[in-house]
Amino acid sequence: MKTPSPIRLLSAQLANQIAAGEVVERPASVVKELLENSLDAGATRIDLEVEQGGVRLIRLRDNGVGIAREDLALALSRHATSKIQVLDDLEAVSSLGFRGEALASISSVARLTLTSRTPEQSEAWSVRVEGRDMEPSLQPAAHPQGTSVEVKDLFFNTPARRKFLKTEKTEFAHLEEVVKRLALSRFDVGFSLMHNGKTLYQLKPALTEMEKERRLSQLLGGHFLEHALVIDMQAEASGLRLSGWMSRPTHSRSQPDQQYFFVNGRIIRDKVVNHAVRQAYQDVLFNGRHPAFVLFFELDPATVDVNVHPTKHEVRFRESRLVHDFIYRSLYRVIADLRPQDQVVSAS
Ligand code: ADP
Ligand code: MG
Repeated sequence: MKTPSPIRLLSAQLANQIAAGEVVERPASVVKELLENSLDAGATRIDLEVEQGGVRLIRLRDNGVGIAREDLALALSRHATSKIQVLDDLEAVSSLGFRGEALASISSVARLTLTSRTPEQSEAWSVRVEGRDMEPSLQPAAHPQGTSVEVKDLFFNTPARRKFLKTEKTEFAHLEEVVKRLALSRFDVGFSLMHNGKTLYQLKPALTEMEKERRLSQLLGGHFLEHALVIDMQAEASGLRLSGWMSRPTHSRSQPDQQYFFVNGRIIRDKVVNHAVRQAYQDVLFNGRHPAFVLFFELDPATVDVNVHPTKHEVRFRESRLVHDFIYRSLYRVIADLRPQDQVVSAS
């Protein structure tokens, strides 16, 4: 007969590594978490430098609020967050992060250095951890206001995970896609991306329509904008709003590779949304063709649950029927406007 093994608490290190399995899949997931932290910190400029697809190095610098000296080490521990405190906060969370897991997870599977300076501090401080169960030590550093995070040698201590990484090219493609998504979600923030010493993007904050269109073209190619229709629909009663760009039916794609849907600024994939979009385009697109779009959907944060999955790519709408119909009708109205015979539908 099998006898029970004694029950023991996992070490913090091992618990973090297990949690990292959910949050940190590849360099792109690290970049997503770091960029979201910078945006949550109110950064207006984020510079990203990576080497070897992000496996060897990810270095990010922002000009956000920074992290106070006494909070630096805490920022690296699990379930440590400045973003929520009580369950009620979760009901109306507006920050991108809130689980307090990203930095702890990343630092358990890579060599991480966090350097920061708040506006009140006259000098910057730095903490460093190398995937071990050790107390991070504080060092004085030179840094302007804001935060830098350096992540080196991802999965250096978890070879099994490292084996799942693809080629440098593939890893970088995933990483670039993450940068694209976030750059599309925040036109007001400047982004730069450098890979192996080569600058790929240098996006200035885009405030005017012209600047926004320029960024769209830089990120999605000139043809996207050339064939895009502008949409901006609002429902007074429910407070729902859908705005952005959607492709003309004449400009469909063979892959659904240019579909960006943001809910309150957060990129998501959702069945309800997908269905509404498909239905709106159904009469005007051939089978197997896909529309391209960059759409921003806004609604009361209290009516949408973002805490469904650790990567927060999924959401749950409280009133999914209402959301579905609003999205469908809004898109359909723009498409129908192109065809006068179909103008009977209205997006109220
Ligand atoms: P979460 O984002 O879920 O709170 P993280 O592990 O990503 O958890 O970050 C932990 C905490 O570290 C954040 O709540 C925030 O206070 C601080 N932090 C992380 N990155 C930055 C940054 N770039 N600028 C300012 N503060 C940061
Ligand atoms: Mg975070």
